[in-house]
Amino acid sequence: MSQIDQKPSEVSIATNATVLTIAGSDPSGGAGLQADLKTFQQLGCYGMSVVTLLTIQNTQGVDRVEVMSADLIEQQIDAVLSDIPPRVIKVGALGDAETVRCVARKLRGVGTPLVVDPVLVSKHGHRLASEDCVQAYRDELLPMTTVFTPNRFEAAALLDCKLESLQDTAEAAAKLQSLGARFVALKAGDFDGDRHHMIASIEDDVTGIATESIESKHTHGAGCVLSAVIAGKLALTIRDEVSADLFDRAFRFAMTEVHHAIRFAPQLGQGVGPVETRVVNSDGQSII
Ligand code: PLP
Repeated sequence: MSQIDQKPSEVSIATNATVLTIAGSDPSGGAGLQADLKTFQQLGCYGMSVVTLLTIQNTQGVDRVEVMSADLIEQQIDAVLSDIPPRVIKVGALGDAETVRCVARKLRGVGTPLVVDPVLVSKHGHRLASEDCVQAYRDELLPMTTVFTPNRFEAAALLDCKLESLQDTAEAAAKLQSLGARFVALKAGDFDGDRHHMIASIEDDVTGIATESIESKHTHGAGCVLSAVIAGKLALTIRDEVSADLFDRAFRFAMTEVHHAIRFAPQLGQGVGPVETRVVNSDGQSII
């Protein structure tokens, strides 16, 4: 396991770095499409969003989830793709199997790299997706995914197994890749007390990276921000396709960024507060 010590480098602004998120709404602004759009903006990308579901939530919990009808989601996707083609598409919370199938059907053949965050359970332990979703992700979306970013619990659900050690988690990343995702960035979490682990599966290589764990309850949106930084960074740098090197750089940059985002969380709300969505350096200063 190598330690992460790099600082985010300078951020280039590219007006044609268009990126679309297909995700749920968090009215408190910490997660979901709101976190994605803030992150895209901060990276210098042009962000767009298709709403898949509405949540009623704040930092204290999720009270309700309402999934949009398939035709509303399809029309939103058509409206964006026919007018401003995104360089990269991020897929966040989809809510139910019908929506997973609908989004997979709409994006199949589009040819745009997909960063898929399989949002199944919120940080509060509230389910954000129905049971049948797991199968639909596995069968429909995973095979067309460029970068897949599950957390440990989502990976276990998708593979129908228990992940009890770092070794199990590394094997899970490779298995998810064999199910069709080109690259996997698995949020393994804290295994040995003071280290926070991520596993990257790139071609035949599984790499573990650890950062120092941060004692903070303000982690709402951390998963969303990680996949949004990967999507945004790819949109800024991609030429023809996502190479292993491009993914590796985007993943390491995102991991550093999320580490800073938790460390410099703005301390908002009375529950699990949001992470910082400005792109900040290791001193907490905005680097834009
Ligand atoms: N997307 C939506 C709409 C959410 O409400 C949540 C969590 O509440 C998430 C994604 C996942 O959030 P996190 O990044 O904290 O895992």
